[in-house]
Amino acid sequence: AKDSGKGQYAYYRSGMKTRVVEQATLLNGLRQALNERQLHLEYQPIVRLSDGAVIGVEALARWRDPTRGVVPPARFIPIAERSGLILPLGRWVLDQACRDASRWQRLDPVREQFTMHVNVSAHQLREPTFTADLHKALTDAGLNPAALVIELTETAMTDDPATVETVHAIRELGVRIALDDFGTGQSSLAILASCPVDVIKIDKSFVDQITGSDRHAAVARTVVQLANSLGMETVAEGVESAVQARHLHTMGYRQAQGFHFARPLVPDAVDLLLE
Ligand code: C2E
Ligand code: CA
Ligand code: CA
Ligand code: CA
Repeated sequence: AKDSGKGQYAYYRSGMKTRVVEQATLLNGLRQALNERQLHLEYQPIVRLSDGAVIGVEALARWRDPTRGVVPPARFIPIAERSGLILPLGRWVLDQACRDASRWQRLDPVREQFTMHVNVSAHQLREPTFTADLHKALTDAGLNPAALVIELTETAMTDDPATVETVHAIRELGVRIALDDFGTGQSSLAILASCPVDVIKIDKSFVDQITGSDRHAAVARTVVQLANSLGMETVAEGVESAVQARHLHTMGYRQAQGFHFARPLVPDAVDLLLE
């Protein structure tokens, strides 16, 4: 038993070492990609459920590495967060997204309602210069603050005073806040009660089940009623079928996003969509 314990220990250690080396290599690659501008953004359309019109997009970071191929954000964002690289990366995302949004608003003046959604991590939100950086991104791009929505997850929306203050400062700039992945965290309702949120994005895991589970449908319906009574906008995420879209619209959801409508697109494809 002693021997096998030892063996397991060695195995565990070598597995751990491989993982650490792998993460360090990935981090180096990501740092280089950021410096050499190998990152780009894709934009997933957000549509109005009543008529399918594209009313905005969500910016999603992409890393195409010459040797690794496409590295999904689910792999590189956590590494960026742990290492602090999310700060320069997040600034780049915000700058680029604001510039593209400004161009798309000018493409079609009728689209003054056009909104750009940008994901911001907890780490970024705690950076003391975040509000100033945000203000600069808007000014440099000449973007109307009302066109920008900052997406925060429940983990980012902690009730520590610095975070609460930043959330208020963001809204004072005229930028809106969306609560992302709504319903997947532990404290969704507590956050709604205490934080000024403008938009609720109900998570795909709910959308997936609304046609098969009465209970999920009931919860999704209650969420939209709650949002309406608090004067919040609603977006349903991960809509993959016409049946889901119809259900959501009947329930009262006003906006949706998902492969049923469009996958994330390169900027040129968004240009074509808006022309
Ligand atoms: P998220 O913010 O919840 O973004 C939505 C994710 O769902 C995107 O994955 C999108 O491609 C995917 N998606 C949209 N519609 C559908 C659908 O109908 N079916 C399915 N199966 N998936 C759908 P993506 O681009 O891989 O991003 C994953 C996560 O990485 C994002 O989740 C977000 O948390 C994070 N992320 C991406 N870009 C950024 C960024 O610039 N900054 C930060 N902080 N996080 C980012
Ligand atoms: Ca998001
Ligand atoms: Ca989400
Ligand atoms: Ca998600």
